[in-house]
Amino acid sequence: MFKVRRALAARLRAAKIEDADIEVRHMLRAILANGAAFADPDACLDETAATQLETMVTRRERREPLSHILGSWGFWSLDLAVSSDVLTPRPETERLVELALGALGNDPCNILDLGIGTGAILFSLLSERPLARGLGVDLSPGALKIATTNAQALNLEERVQFIEGPWEAALDMAPFDVLVSNPPYIASAQISTLEPEVRAYEPMLALDGGADGLDAYRAIFPLIPRYLKPGGFFALEIGADQGRALFNLAQNQKNVYKIEIFQDLAGRDRVICGYSR
Ligand code: GLN
Repeated sequence: MFKVRRALAARLRAAKIEDADIEVRHMLRAILANGAAFADPDACLDETAATQLETMVTRRERREPLSHILGSWGFWSLDLAVSSDVLTPRPETERLVELALGALGNDPCNILDLGIGTGAILFSLLSERPLARGLGVDLSPGALKIATTNAQALNLEERVQFIEGPWEAALDMAPFDVLVSNPPYIASAQISTLEPEVRAYEPMLALDGGADGLDAYRAIFPLIPRYLKPGGFFALEIGADQGRALFNLAQNQKNVYKIEIFQDLAGRDRVICGYSR
């Protein structure tokens, strides 16, 4: 088994994939029923497993994201189905979940997630707050399909609803206690500079934030006081270089206050939070 692992990792490394050993391990883990085979130098793959593994490695050599190849990805305490219709959840986004949980008591409350994607943010919050309910909005039918699959798999379907449409699509359902979002925030011209896994396989709709990357925030900020109860909390993910611009943009916004920028574990600006009047 070690030989197989080494040979496949070398192929991934040649395709410029950094964590080649770990990735091969993930692939094997998805294929092998018996985890013990990992550590057994004499274990052999049967033909089906060998073919599956070959397909996975070939896809990964073309820089398809590992999450798409495995079909699911870990976020917070959850395992979420992913596809090319949604962003693969990133660990940076867990910071947003942490901040929103800090603002959520244990009482019943109503959470709005704009651009729900996999449901990573909303479902993490609901998994931690059994009395909370949530609504996910997304423009993409494909994303809503994945979110629905995830809600069912996590037994959350009785506590979530979905609406297909733009940022303002859920205004009829207001007011909410909390608003969360990881909107598209990459400046259009930057997209071609991203890693192939992102630019070639993740949905543009979830990445492209317009000329300066801030279009989504210009649309969402004015909606915050309309969506939230007075004193309601919001947390939006932001790009590492957008903290100052978004702080100013939010400061100029009527009816939001106590704006703060928070950093992710790497020390980069990652979340803007505040309250609605
Ligand atoms: N963090 C993502 C990336 O850099 C972008 C996420 C987003 O635009 N919301 O690939």
